[in-house]
Amino acid sequence: TVRTRIAPSPTGDPHVGTAYIALFNLAFARQHGGEFILRIEDTDQQRSTPESERMILDSLRWLGLDWDEGPDCGGDRGPYRQSERAEIYQRYAQQLIDEGHAFYCFATPEELDQMRQEQQARGERPQYDGRGLRLSPEEVTRRLEAGEPYVIRMKIPEEGSFRFQDYLRGEVEIPWQQIDMQVLMKQDGLPTYFLANVVDDHLMGITHVFRGEEWLPSAPKLIKLYEYFGWEAPVLGHMPLLRNPDKSKLSKRKNPTSILYYQRMGYLPEALLNYLARMGWSMPDEREKFSLEEMIANFDMKRVSLGGPIFDPEKLDWLNGQWIREELSDEQFVEHLKRWAFNDDYIRPLIPHIKGRVERFSQVAPLAGFMFSGMTDLSATQFEALRLEPNQVRKVLQFVSWFLDDLRHWEKDAIFAGLKALAKAMEVKMGDFMAPIFLSIAGTTSTFSVVDAMQLLGPDLSRARVRHALS
Ligand code: ATP
Ligand code: GLU
Repeated sequence: TVRTRIAPSPTGDPHVGTAYIALFNLAFARQHGGEFILRIEDTDQQRSTPESERMILDSLRWLGLDWDEGPDCGGDRGPYRQSERAEIYQRYAQQLIDEGHAFYCFATPEELDQMRQEQQARGERPQYDGRGLRLSPEEVTRRLEAGEPYVIRMKIPEEGSFRFQDYLRGEVEIPWQQIDMQVLMKQDGLPTYFLANVVDDHLMGITHVFRGEEWLPSAPKLIKLYEYFGWEAPVLGHMPLLRNPDKSKLSKRKNPTSILYYQRMGYLPEALLNYLARMGWSMPDEREKFSLEEMIANFDMKRVSLGGPIFDPEKLDWLNGQWIREELSDEQFVEHLKRWAFNDDYIRPLIPHIKGRVERFSQVAPLAGFMFSGMTDLSATQFEALRLEPNQVRKVLQFVSWFLDDLRHWEKDAIFAGLKALAKAMEVKMGDFMAPIFLSIAGTTSTFSVVDAMQLLGPDLSRARVRHALS
């Protein structure tokens, strides 16, 4: 049976790119009556968080991209979280060592830095020089017994080219000289992406892997590993990446990339999925609006076009409007509205900020309407009325925007501490500093604490509003 998978790394917000790749893997599996698996690739312990994993699962589920096996629902080939499979990878790394396909390297980071500097000084491309391969077996044993830290690297052919058939691109050729002797096991005893990915795709019976073209350069190493293990490699196909309207790779600095943003902005999951399906693919009859079921019924992976699909928020708006008008009864509209923000979970945390400031319920909407909207309507005159000079206002917002983009733990004390430090560094009085932030987030300076508002709005909408104010 056909088995495909999505294998996100839980290192940040749930990316629309992840949903896009998941969608095509799901459609391919369903069309063939196969199975679709979700695996969490969390071997990077520094950057992976359970919070990110939860958000990824929740967002994919919200979109209706249901998987048959995964960390939440189990399955026969688990565990489906790489951090729970450490012994498995150790066993297979040992096998590669024993069979002479991989080797130990004891070089320290300083030693490798020096190696690269020397290579650069000689005008060569910095690349691992295979020094571990030149150690005698006796020396390796001695250093292992002495407990020296090491990594395990894979052997790579020195000459010739690697060739393989990409399901979407046809024959791809990459000279082996461009490929480094990849680290497979790190000093901490955990695998890198390459080893874990190959071992898992094999053990989980994955037959087809469709993933972003950013991974194309890793294909030679992956396929070589399958060969070393004596396993059949899955079919690989590399999808075009989503692009900003200026053709650069979709990036959160230009376009919101978090699925949570699109949820918070009030898009229908069906419409967002429909839009992602339209990225690089079209129905045989070219119709724009279609459901996941209709996509699966008409799916043909070979129809994916390789030109970089442009993720255009205006087209998404148009499509979402079609879905709302044509697909939702008034009843359903109300249901969706409730699920979106008109519910206890969303409104309840607002009350402590509102209650002390109103005398009538009719004052709630004017005070807190910005908690139920998308981008704020702003005019230049609002900013001109502030105490700071316009160029100072810009500078404040630019620095705030960068600060918010990089803030990992979205929590009001951290937001406040960061803003205070920025105001101090810029030598702007806190009140003057906060005013443009109030305007960007709430559209007015007279409302409840903007830091509380940002915490409740979440990182995606808050960042987008500050960026919007700058544009
Ligand atoms: P960076 O800015 O560091 O490249 P990113 O925006 O690419 O980060 P990642 O966390 O690296 O985000 O990617 C998360 C997931 O989204 C990955 O699985 C990646 O393949 C996918 N992804 C990221 N950007 C795109 C894109 N433009 N098109 C399709 N998929 C993407
Ligand atoms: N963990 C990788 C990612 O985050 C998976 C890449 C692949 O599909 O092989 O994109």
